[in-house]
Amino acid sequence: MDKRRCAVCGSPRVDAIINGLPYCFKCGSKLIRLHIVNFLHALKREKLIPSTVEIPEP
Ligand SMILES: [Zn+2]
Repeated sequence: MDKRRCAVCGSPRVDAIINGLPYCFKCGSKLIRLHIVNFLHALKREKLIPSTVEIPEP
C-alpha cells in the first residue's frame, strides 16, 4: 500500500505533486488557482499592482 493518493480528496489518480504532496488534476488545478489568487492579493497589498486590477474568485 504505497500507492499515492490525492491529499485532498483521496483519489488514486495523482496527476501533480505540489509542495511534496500528491494531488489529482481537479484538486491540483484548484490549488494552483488559489495560489495565484493569493499571490495577486499579496501583490495588491504591497502595492506592486494597481488596486484597480480585478482578482477573480478562487
Ligand atoms: Zn483530489
